[in-house]
Amino acid sequence: MRFIKKFYLLVILMNCLFFFSACEDTSEWISLFDGKTLDGWTASENESSWQIEDGAIVTTGSRSHLFYQGDVKGHNFKNFEFKAQVKTMNHSNSGIYFHTSFQEEGWPSKGYECQIVNSVFETDNQYTEHKMTGSLYGIRNLAKPPVKDGEWFNYHIIVQGKTIQIYINENLVVDYTEPEEPMRLEDMKERLLSSGTFALQCHDPSSKVYFKEIKVKPLADDLPSLGKALDDRAYEKKLLLAAKRNIPLTDLHMHLKKGLTIEQALAHARTYGFTYGIAYNCGINMGFESNDSLQKFIDDYKRPPQTYLAMQAEGREWLELFSKETIDQFDYVFTDAMTWTNDNGKRMRLWLKEETEVGDPQNFMDQLVDRIENIIGKEPIDIYVNATFLPEEIQDQYDELWTDQRMDRVISVLKSNHVAMEISARYQIPSARFIRRAKDAGVKFTFGTNNTGSDDLGRLEYCLDMIEQCDLQPEDIWMPDVTRSK
Ligand SMILES: [Zn+2]
Repeated sequence: MRFIKKFYLLVILMNCLFFFSACEDTSEWISLFDGKTLDGWTASENESSWQIEDGAIVTTGSRSHLFYQGDVKGHNFKNFEFKAQVKTMNHSNSGIYFHTSFQEEGWPSKGYECQIVNSVFETDNQYTEHKMTGSLYGIRNLAKPPVKDGEWFNYHIIVQGKTIQIYINENLVVDYTEPEEPMRLEDMKERLLSSGTFALQCHDPSSKVYFKEIKVKPLADDLPSLGKALDDRAYEKKLLLAAKRNIPLTDLHMHLKKGLTIEQALAHARTYGFTYGIAYNCGINMGFESNDSLQKFIDDYKRPPQTYLAMQAEGREWLELFSKETIDQFDYVFTDAMTWTNDNGKRMRLWLKEETEVGDPQNFMDQLVDRIENIIGKEPIDIYVNATFLPEEIQDQYDELWTDQRMDRVISVLKSNHVAMEISARYQIPSARFIRRAKDAGVKFTFGTNNTGSDDLGRLEYCLDMIEQCDLQPEDIWMPDVTRSK
């Protein structure tokens, strides 16, 4: 009897042990905020910037960071999942730091910041932030916020091994794996994985941001990375320099062609750190040919919230095919000057050698500039793409044929119609000389790849090079007007 009792106890004990060890891997969510007090949290600089309202932490006021200094895991987290509900009011800037440590004043230098900004606006000190909600600040940035001001959204951060994932409303927007030797600029040397605590940011007095349901799920220290590092220091440096300039990095000319799926494209954008505008061709023999088919497409379209939706207007008949109401449902419209009819009545698509009649190059250029002026002057577009493209036959004479006078005619019509000029990663045009001249005249620029499928998605390298070579500033970049407020 006594023996059987002992045996049962042993079985129960072993079951418990098994149960607890199994639980270790799938540990529970632990709340970091009781909804009523700031117990466990310590504010730097300006304590009064933090209040509690209806179960939420509200931040507004002078700069301060609220560090978690409580008992959970001795406030030292390595691998973890973190979740919070966040709401921004108009013109707010904030963030969530991890792997950081308490700092009396200033912006926390240690660890990473996950950005919170849902509208584009200029602050009192003339700064306009272009790294939007979901950005892993300065390292992988989103140019378009996936959520809006005034609405609660879920911020979900996963750090496992060397991988950092950010989900906004459970939509993966950042998937970054730190390489063995990460490239970092001088002012961001400590943006690295280690271990540490969390901090919420009060950025400035005009920001007002709410946080609630703040919780963490510690994960085992030895879990493997979730992804593979992009081990390319040269490319990383270009990305970091563009981010330091505060350039919103977009590829506004991407096509889902030849079986390329939205998910593949979004994974590519996460890897290389830019924001896509997904473009659909509209025009005779080029895609959507009727207003009904285009409107039906828009009605059914499930837009990834971190992307823009673009209309590529084709040929010169597009204006008669689609209603203004349908066109206005796109975030922007672009066209090129590669399809037109020459003085001999020959309709040409300039990228096709067999269709293109060049003849005398000077005469051809005069016709081309004339067509560009007509298109940009008459068609209600936002961007002139594949800008300054020349047929293959005369491509090697680009610099001679694009004379100052011809450049100025194009620049002038762009400027007076508020049409931006695309810097094409695929064709590597316009030239740096053309870009500088247009910039000096006040023309704005966009970046685009114009891929033909999944093999040539590109990494915007020509665009990144031009940003540095032509000293482009945030105000030189044209952006779709989806969150801009005055
Ligand atoms: Zn295109």
